[in-house]
Amino acid sequence: MISVTEISKKTNFSKEDIIRLLSITDKNEQKELLRKAYSVKDKTVGRKVYLRGLIEFSNLCQKNCLYCGIRSANAKVTRYSLTDEEILAVTEFAVKNQFTGIVLQSGEQSNRDFTQRITNLITRIKQATHHELRITLSVGEQSFNTYKEWFEAGAERYLLRIETSSEELYRKIHPDNALHSFKTRLQCLENIQQIGYQTGTGVMIGLPFQTIENLADDLLFIKQMNIDMVGMGPYLEHVNTPFFIYKDSLLPINERLNLSLRMIAILRLLMPDINIVATTALQTITPMGREMGLKAGANVVMPNLTPGKYRGNYLLYDNKPCIDEDADECINCLANRMKMIGEEIANDYGDSIHFTQRKNRVVM
Ligand code: SAH
Ligand code: SF4
Repeated sequence: MISVTEISKKTNFSKEDIIRLLSITDKNEQKELLRKAYSVKDKTVGRKVYLRGLIEFSNLCQKNCLYCGIRSANAKVTRYSLTDEEILAVTEFAVKNQFTGIVLQSGEQSNRDFTQRITNLITRIKQATHHELRITLSVGEQSFNTYKEWFEAGAERYLLRIETSSEELYRKIHPDNALHSFKTRLQCLENIQQIGYQTGTGVMIGLPFQTIENLADDLLFIKQMNIDMVGMGPYLEHVNTPFFIYKDSLLPINERLNLSLRMIAILRLLMPDINIVATTALQTITPMGREMGLKAGANVVMPNLTPGKYRGNYLLYDNKPCIDEDADECINCLANRMKMIGEEIANDYGDSIHFTQRKNRVVM
């Protein structure tokens, strides 16, 4: 069998190479892979961590994804939506705490009122923060014109996870109706990229029915789509979802963590200059999960800035961390945690280098 050392020397991986790396079970091999990815990260994007303040501004959602705790059919969730003033207060906090970017995330709503509201919010946030904050949107599938309207209003980045690049698996993890169409999701991602956003996608790792081959295809999909930023993390069960019935057939939680770290490391080797998020889902598995993600090649962290009183109602999965904490408590400990692993919090925007180079190539 080809060794990890030999594969890591290559500049382009075949699907078989990726499957081999994803299938690592030996601790030393895993260490070697992660170390290699970290050295590539060091040389390309540096030992800097970019913070994006996450604002989970609403849990209202029209969709019913079978894995997600805030799916519309979950009647046990108290639905909320922050007011514009509450959102602006968070952005003010973000600027004061040297954040250079925020992520506005919510369940999916698509109607004119929602579109209009987001457009106004983007304009107000840009004005109130003297254009010092980059805005990432993560509010699901929308029409081409809506994405364009928000881009023109000033949002620079969009995060829409494909969830899985396998249409077959996508069908198994969503209800079978037009609101949950793989083709639409893919089209949305293409539209986002075409409009000019820094384009982010990602997948869940360790889903029921998912194979290692699916995950290898996911990494190749991300590369082939020329994606600028990636947020991918372990699938975690939520008690009030249809997928909870599979909880005993999932990969053991530690293996899900290690597999997620290998996914990050391989992606860093495949695409050295993109931004990769160390997700909260990693931190849910173990308190040092995000740091482990950074050590495997990730370079972005999204601290939760959602006001404390709403956090308990934005539980995509069980055991989400920091739901009782205020934002500032989390941030103080974060700076120290980064220092501890030899990383520093960056103070520049941290636009995806991949995006900047892709854009320059188009212009030239
Ligand atoms: N509604 C938007 C954004 C919020 S959901 C959207 O769906 O795009 C953000 C992400 O949370 C999803 O893309 C999904 O990958 C992730 N997620 C949802 N349920 C999850 C679970 N049970 N475990 C891990 N990640 C989950
Ligand atoms: Fe809604 Fe997003 Fe959860 Fe699907 S993953 S139910 S779209 S919040």
